[in-house]
Amino acid sequence: MSKKVPLYIDGEFVASKSEQWIPVTNPATQEVIAEAPVATQSEMEAAVESAREAFKTWKEVPVSERARVMMRYQALLKEHQEEIAEILAQETGKTFEDAKGDVWRGIEVVEHAANIPSLLMGETVENVARKIDSYSYTQPLGVCAGITPFNFPAMIPLWMFPLAIACGNTFILKPSEQDPLTPTRLVELFEEAGAPKGVLQVLHGNKEQVDFLLDHPDVRALSFVGSVPVAEYIYRRGTENGKRVQAFAGAKNHCVIMPDANKQQVINNLVGSSVGAAGQRCMAISVAVFVGAAKEWIPEVAEAIAKVRPGAWNDENAAYGPVISPQAKERVEALITQGEKEGATLLVDGRNCKVDGLPNGNWVGPTVFSNVTPDMEVYKTEIFGPVLCATEVDSLEDALELVNNNPYGNGTSIFTASGAAARKYQHEVEVGQVGINIPIPVPLPFFSFTGWKRSFFGDLHAYGKQAVRFYSETKTVTARWFESDIDEVAGPNMSIN
Ligand code: NAD
Repeated sequence: MSKKVPLYIDGEFVASKSEQWIPVTNPATQEVIAEAPVATQSEMEAAVESAREAFKTWKEVPVSERARVMMRYQALLKEHQEEIAEILAQETGKTFEDAKGDVWRGIEVVEHAANIPSLLMGETVENVARKIDSYSYTQPLGVCAGITPFNFPAMIPLWMFPLAIACGNTFILKPSEQDPLTPTRLVELFEEAGAPKGVLQVLHGNKEQVDFLLDHPDVRALSFVGSVPVAEYIYRRGTENGKRVQAFAGAKNHCVIMPDANKQQVINNLVGSSVGAAGQRCMAISVAVFVGAAKEWIPEVAEAIAKVRPGAWNDENAAYGPVISPQAKERVEALITQGEKEGATLLVDGRNCKVDGLPNGNWVGPTVFSNVTPDMEVYKTEIFGPVLCATEVDSLEDALELVNNNPYGNGTSIFTASGAAARKYQHEVEVGQVGINIPIPVPLPFFSFTGWKRSFFGDLHAYGKQAVRFYSETKTVTARWFESDIDEVAGPNMSIN
């Protein structure tokens, strides 16, 4: 019998009373390794009620004590990094190295959350008027919620709850139903780190549970990461209900290759950033834009990508794992077929990929198209598979025009030896995260994760100072103290100030 994933409500891991359960499968074998409940109405209500009650006391806990919970949590996550990565690898199929990276990027956010006292500091100005001072405080909002995708089951929950809770809020997490075991382990360790009862709750399920959080009047802010249509829906419904919403969505990330770039660096970096993690990264490079004579390198890029193979999480020779589900495999393969029909040149074909000893895995081999044009579906759609589309342009200006016309704006990179070309690209490109000779420019947590255009709906981004603003309110005080022995009491003040 497979493991039943518990809910986490009011400081207890509880068995759901749900009659609906979602199978969690190992994508390399299709073995059902667990079942996640679809939380019932009363379980959802209990989670919100507990989070609301816990907020009353948690917000009064001194900020340095809240920071210490994060310090202990960081230490525990580091101690258990490999164990968490193993759970993660089994439910996502990621290679062990990649799974450890997923956990590590989350640990870095917890480190950032441990700096919460200085992040919360407000502003002060003395003598805004005669003998009057103004100063601001940062106060928590109340109950916040987070809905996370399957592709980073450690990092993305850790983008959210540690910072929200460090700010003094309480938090309800609704992880992806496709890989709920990793977040469960993260939450067990959070409890072990000394997080008081009720500050964090976990509900499992799908649309119905998300809608409950979107509509519940006690939920003040909602963080979402996932696909574009769901992000747009969540942003609209949440904001209509008067909530603060940040919704991170899909992408189509371009890498611009100038002819003066270091060819070997370009090839090595394109392999990892396009097919690594089976292309299931929102910052994966899915379009390589070869400028001028750089197009001569396309055959060598294709040759290098053709050499890498997917495999099991613990196979040290595997470059990446399976895609998450049979449906995802079918979708990626259908897009490859469509690209071929639309006239792109299929240089490396990853369809019908087999891995020895694992006949049921959702394997997609590395795939490379050249002669891709912007009207093709393989260019327009986020494939979310190990597929690189190569395209050619004549100049840096043409590359900028192509990238800026794309509706997404999550990440981009340029490979060049020219500072002037890099400066022009970084300045003119309409994308929120730019790498210069770095393929996947994911900012560290003291910056923010700043996707633009249809890759992000909202104002304040994940982690960094922006997340602290997202999870808090600013209260500004204007104060005057009378020295009654010294000052004479003035008459009535008739001005509006
Ligand atoms: P998804 O949108 O299918 O699911 C994300 C979450 O939303 C899950 O918890 C799911 O249960 C819930 N959900 C699904 N359908 C819903 C609906 N109709 N109403 C309400 N909630 C719903 O995304 P996914 O397939 O798990 O993740 C992959 C996507 O996430 C890709 O598009 C990827 O680019 C994107 N992503 C973006 C970022 C970023 O920072 N921009 C990071 C990681 C992943």
